[in-house]
Amino acid sequence: MTMAEQTPEAGAPVTTLATPIRLDFDFTPGIAQSVFLRGLEQGRFMGQRCAVCGKVYVPSRGSCPTDGVPTTEDVELANVGTVTTYCVVNVPFAGQSIEIPYICAQILLDGANLSFMGLIQEIPTEDIRMGMRVEAVWVDDDQLTPSLASVKYFRPTGEPDADYETYKEYL
Ligand SMILES: [Zn+2]
Repeated sequence: MTMAEQTPEAGAPVTTLATPIRLDFDFTPGIAQSVFLRGLEQGRFMGQRCAVCGKVYVPSRGSCPTDGVPTTEDVELANVGTVTTYCVVNVPFAGQSIEIPYICAQILLDGANLSFMGLIQEIPTEDIRMGMRVEAVWVDDDQLTPSLASVKYFRPTGEPDADYETYKEYL
């Protein structure tokens, strides 16, 4: 579309306006998230356990939101987990890097008390379901970085589905 086509007639309401936006910022992860990010660099999930309630947070923000105390015990989580809930993305959008349709899921790693969002691959989208057991697929060792880009995606393990009672608190 040319500028002339975007310019409304004189006096007509302006209905849309395209404006380029750019935002640069530095992120300071802090001690707890550094543990998580350094874990990703080594191909493993690292969380932290609350000494009061025993919950394991991954990634940890450095404190327990329930008890208000610092979480100082580092815990390595399993590479496998359970899909607690999910959505199938069918809508194209600008900057999309994954072919649609694809699956975004909340994944509760074994041993964790907090789920996080992950991409599910190697499965037809119609086969995804709550309770599905999945495992992380990592990039090659020489591609690992301290970021979630180290996790390519999750894929089904083929194990029987988890019992709803085991993950109903994490939807
Ligand atoms: Zn706690």
